[in-house]
Amino acid sequence: MARIFSGIQPSGELHIGNYLGAVKNWVALQHTAESIFCIVDYHAIITAYEPAQLRARRRDMALGLLAAGIDPAVSTLFVQSDVPEHTELAWIFNTVTPLGELERQTQFKDKSQRMESVSAGLLNYPILQAADILLYRADRVPVGEDQLQHLELSRVIARRWNAEFAPDDDFFPEPQPVLTPTRRIMGLDGQSKMSKSMGNTIGMLESPEEIWKKLRPAVTDPKRIKKTDPGTPEVCNIYHLHRAFSPPDVVSHVETQCRTAGWGCIECKKVLFENVNTELTPIRTRAAEIRSQPELVDQVAGDGALTARRVAAVTMREVKDRMGLA
Ligand code: SF4
Repeated sequence: MARIFSGIQPSGELHIGNYLGAVKNWVALQHTAESIFCIVDYHAIITAYEPAQLRARRRDMALGLLAAGIDPAVSTLFVQSDVPEHTELAWIFNTVTPLGELERQTQFKDKSQRMESVSAGLLNYPILQAADILLYRADRVPVGEDQLQHLELSRVIARRWNAEFAPDDDFFPEPQPVLTPTRRIMGLDGQSKMSKSMGNTIGMLESPEEIWKKLRPAVTDPKRIKKTDPGTPEVCNIYHLHRAFSPPDVVSHVETQCRTAGWGCIECKKVLFENVNTELTPIRTRAAEIRSQPELVDQVAGDGALTARRVAAVTMREVKDRMGLA
């Protein structure tokens, strides 16, 4: 059976961009492959952060993932820093990763340009990602398009380590991407990717009232100024959210109504709002149930860490043996 690994930063409560762009896909995939999902808190400490907030966000993320449908009966869900082998393998991979490959990473170039002081952690971030995946010898990694370059680097690292220490059996598989079916979810400003730092999100667990308060003023096709102006759904983020949340017949109706100025944007948003609620209401209900059992999240994460460590220990024993470290 294939093994998949994917990680998510503990950014607190999931927003619908995380949900549609990653987590919904994980929930579907967990029934098709052995699935390991990790809350990557070591990745989250690369930039300034508040320790108490990080602690709370790790729990909130675990709760959100369980509410969204990650099922600990079929998946392993754990927190990265509970499995020290991640950083142990990352150090080993540091020794086989060419500096030039790291400096070429688009995300490093983008982020480092905006920083006054660049940490080695930011540069080495993709090495830790490679360790996250290869520690479990995962062969498939659900990712968005913006992570493809990092995944390619994981394959380079696997190849280089194999060439040096496992020339006969390719110990580490070269992980292949499983692209998320939903395209990149833009924020309510229609300008940039949905992200907490941009303040353009809808929280997965927000109440219907809060959601409508955000959806109502959300940016649409900028050329649709009057209700009588025909619109272009493809340039409108509300249309793309319909594609993610509404049934296909509703999506076709939206297209027609938009192009023919058959309705106004508020009517269009009301229909979207109904369909968002249809999808998110059971998730909110599950979240409330989980919150009513305060020990549940810690128990799931603790069990997940034990399972993950069992697999990680086997990998590290083999790695150290082949490298003369044991
Ligand atoms: S009618 Fe709907 S799809 Fe068309 S511009 Fe307005 S909100 Fe967007």
